[in-house]
Amino acid sequence: MSHQFLEMPDKDGYFGEYGGQIVPPELKAIMDQISVAYEEVRQTQAFQDELADLYTHYVGRPSPLFFARRLTERQGGARIFLKREDLNHTGAHKINHCLGQALLAKYMGKTKVLAETGAGQHGVALATACALVGIPCEIHMGEIDIAKEHPNVTKMRILGCNLVPVSRGTRTLKDAVDSAFEEYLKDPVNFLYAIGSVVGPHPFPKMVRDFQSIIGQEARAQFLEREGKLPDVVTACVGGGSNAIGMFTEFLPDEGVKLVGIEPAGLGLDTPDHAATLTLGTKGALHGFKCYTLQDDKGEPLPVYSIASGLDYPGVGPQHCYLKDVGRVQYEAITDDECLDAFMTLSRVEGILPALESSHAVAYAMKIAKTMPADKTILVNLSGRGDKDADFVANKLGL
Ligand SMILES: *Cc1c(COP(=O)(O)O)cnc(C)c1O
Repeated sequence: MSHQFLEMPDKDGYFGEYGGQIVPPELKAIMDQISVAYEEVRQTQAFQDELADLYTHYVGRPSPLFFARRLTERQGGARIFLKREDLNHTGAHKINHCLGQALLAKYMGKTKVLAETGAGQHGVALATACALVGIPCEIHMGEIDIAKEHPNVTKMRILGCNLVPVSRGTRTLKDAVDSAFEEYLKDPVNFLYAIGSVVGPHPFPKMVRDFQSIIGQEARAQFLEREGKLPDVVTACVGGGSNAIGMFTEFLPDEGVKLVGIEPAGLGLDTPDHAATLTLGTKGALHGFKCYTLQDDKGEPLPVYSIASGLDYPGVGPQHCYLKDVGRVQYEAITDDECLDAFMTLSRVEGILPALESSHAVAYAMKIAKTMPADKTILVNLSGRGDKDADFVANKLGL
């Protein structure tokens, strides 16, 4: 398919002015090698067959498209459909790009896959993929996060990854990134740094998007098959932006389909406690690429906050920045309170516990459905399941 949006990024990894490789020359050479290897490997039948087989028989794809009848009746207005990425093995969309990167590492003959993790979701998905592919995995995690995220820490240990506690600085995600990156720089030729979203230097935003675009490919075909037409609105939550771009990519050429990315407004856009990067950020650079960021006067990332730990990132994928500027995707923000309400509502009217991240997109659908006529449709990417959030929500709401 030839289309202006689908031919991105350019050969230097730019989506318009965003993305690129803002890294030292030694590292740029390594990133270029990964890019060349990726473009070669992904064309091979062996790689395509192996990934497709794992998507089907390991992840459980295609994930179902579900009509949320009771939610629709409760809200009134447009019909709401859910793309059930929560039903994937490991409970979210992250397994799609972790398998892709673990397989790529194997095909490139890498000896170790490395990453940082905050709440542990990326760590668990990556440790799972590495266990399956049979490649050593090392995850760096701040000591404070290790104490907080017990179930994920236990899972990573069981899955056999080398979990490295980070005791410096903030002892959270920020320093875990630095620690993992230092380890990576010891031997970048033999190690692969697996990035957890459509962020980082080229080719990661492209690679992760490609691995996630299965979501939209399936959903578009499933929707057409079921309804005989395309949805009017497609929505997904945006942290770094991988589940959203995975859902949106296939719909980009469909001009009649409105695409809406949902950011976390946290305690409110008029407070410092949010992570609405596209809504309130300014142009800057972070973790090796150019994007909108929430930053101070000196260009240092601001502390960000969301009730959903998977969404609190001060940057955002470069393709989202471009799609915002050209107006193809609209970005809105949902508060913690709206998110909690959506979490409880979907649980009680459909028997589906959504991840707090995904609940942001559900909340947006609930909000706009009532403003739309009954012959209109909304497709929500339910990026993950809420089992991990159940105790937290129950405590918070005194259940
Ligand atoms: C990590 C995560 C997200 C946020 O990451 P994106 O790259 O923005 O998709 C969203 N939903 C779930 C369930 C997650 O685990």
